[in-house]
Amino acid sequence: MMSIAVCPGSFDPVTKGHLDIITRGAKVFDKVIVAVLINHTKQPLFTTEERIDLLKQVTNHLPNVEVDAFNGLLVDYMKVNKANAIIKGLRAVSDFEYEMQMASINRLLDEEIETFFMMTNNQYSFLSSSIVKEIAKYQADVSSLVPPIVEEALQRKFAAK
Ligand code: ADP
Repeated sequence: MMSIAVCPGSFDPVTKGHLDIITRGAKVFDKVIVAVLINHTKQPLFTTEERIDLLKQVTNHLPNVEVDAFNGLLVDYMKVNKANAIIKGLRAVSDFEYEMQMASINRLLDEEIETFFMMTNNQYSFLSSSIVKEIAKYQADVSSLVPPIVEEALQRKFAAK
């Protein structure tokens, strides 16, 4: 059986922290589907299409990584795509409580699904999309936090605002 993992998130926008988790996940699973969550309660900076496009560009060199979007329940999306695992990155202890809750709920909804947590690369343990947006808004240098094309997209976005 092929092992297919889904890496869900808002990716608004994708950071080097996300990319680290996706790259490492792609070494362990046969296929990794990066799934952009649509209809998030938060108002995103980038549209779903823009987020997908950036993700596709930065994962282009990884042959077993696909990028897609989903709404509704993750377990339903996974069934349709024959995925059996969820990959999540864990940064600080603060991620833990929420992720425990999500993993338990997903297990309750479908007991065949396993959630795998990957510890963040220490370098990225304080990195989040929100932090990136917050500092990019003031034209600060985000080159160590996001891939170059994401940095350019942020500059264009804030220049247009
Ligand atoms: P963010 O908090 O950056 O908005 P997302 O909702 O896009 O994150 O997160 C998708 C997944 O990526 C989550 O599992 C999250 O824990 C993980 N993740 C986000 N940033 C990092 C990072 N710097 N290191 C490891 N994992 C991360």
